[in-house]
Amino acid sequence: MTTLTQENYYEDTNYLTNSRYKRYQQCQAKAYAVDKGDWVEERDETPLLLGNYVHSYFESPEAHEQFLAENGDKILAKTGKNKGKPKADFVIGDKMIDSLANDDGFGRLYHGFSEDDVQKELIVYGEIEGVPVKGKLDSVNLTRGYFVDLKTMKSIYSEEWNAELKQRVPAAVNNILGFGYHGQLGLYRNLLKQMTGQEFRPYIVAVSKETMPDKEILEIDNDWLDEGLDQLKENIVDVWNVIQSKQKPTACERCDYCRSKKKLGKVVSLTQLINN
Ligand SMILES: [Zn+2]
Repeated sequence: MTTLTQENYYEDTNYLTNSRYKRYQQCQAKAYAVDKGDWVEERDETPLLLGNYVHSYFESPEAHEQFLAENGDKILAKTGKNKGKPKADFVIGDKMIDSLANDDGFGRLYHGFSEDDVQKELIVYGEIEGVPVKGKLDSVNLTRGYFVDLKTMKSIYSEEWNAELKQRVPAAVNNILGFGYHGQLGLYRNLLKQMTGQEFRPYIVAVSKETMPDKEILEIDNDWLDEGLDQLKENIVDVWNVIQSKQKPTACERCDYCRSKKKLGKVVSLTQLINN
């Protein structure tokens, strides 16, 4: 098995990541086609870049500089009166950074006290149901036994409908459950336990992309962490078998990839449509 390093982490495909697992959960057929190079996902890169812009700042000055060197052309204006400053989409990134950088509570949590052993971008790995899995943690305080994941989101408290819970919830709830962060943090906690033998407490520092960014330290209750990890355990072997071409990928029949393969034949009744 490959030894994971900061250099080979993203190229490595011997270990499953939570995000790759999530893609297979959404649609196996599409994820498989993307992995094989048969389908190119069209998506807006801005949210990912904005997230990495904020992340790299709190990782280290060197990481932020390297991120800007690699992505500066997409982030900084090349001409006009704002030359060298962030483009409109990324101005909010600077506000998010300021909001956290000037917050002592955040600093203590994310960077720890001076005597603490705090690791940024720590690679964790292990096995879940016999499947090799890896992850990268934003900040791990090995002295105090907790880790922190920084999440950028549209809003924390604006109310949204949650179809599964059948109630209105703060946007952060939809963000966490929708992206499966409870499973991700449950997984990371499990991998840290495999590596160190210790139980770590996971925290999310949420920061919003609103004109005046909101922020909050969120803790995911144990029941939710367990539920997220249990869901992952139920499906991970299936996903791994598909990735290794031991099992045919199933199609969701709804996503853009599946629509591109769609051929008409069977007739759908109104009742079937309602019960869909
Ligand atoms: Zn699909």
